[in-house]
Amino acid sequence: MTTPIANPVAVADGIFTLNDGQPVLLGSRCTNCDNHMFPRQHGCPRCMFNEQVDVELATRGTLWTWTVQAFPPKAPPYLGPVGDDFEPFGVGYVELPGQLRVEARLTESDPEKLQIGMEMEIVPFVLGTDEDGNDVVTYAFAPVTQNGDQS
Ligand SMILES: [Zn+2]
Repeated sequence: MTTPIANPVAVADGIFTLNDGQPVLLGSRCTNCDNHMFPRQHGCPRCMFNEQVDVELATRGTLWTWTVQAFPPKAPPYLGPVGDDFEPFGVGYVELPGQLRVEARLTESDPEKLQIGMEMEIVPFVLGTDEDGNDVVTYAFAPVTQNGDQS
């Protein structure tokens, strides 16, 4: 279940786009060796070839590894609550089939509910509100439950 977000604005340009409220990561693919890169870059680190095409990355993948961030990351770039308001959150690498692994925040931080290999889906994650009242959105990955919904 995804809560509708009234006026979403992406926290950074060029990293992801919002498609009907769902984040889609913007990557690039090497036309020579099929290597996928995220964020987009010019020049393939695998084969040094210089022709890449823009691709949208898969919105579902499997959890490759994860940990729980138990203290606030360095700010900036971290924009979330710090001090007593900080709540530990999950961080993981999600393997997007046939593409690559991306590091991302996870919506789940309970170690009992995270399992390597479980199916994950990208969801919008609201960081806060800007001065115009828009929701500032980044992306996170949520576990996909048995019936196909996000938990
Ligand atoms: Zn390449």
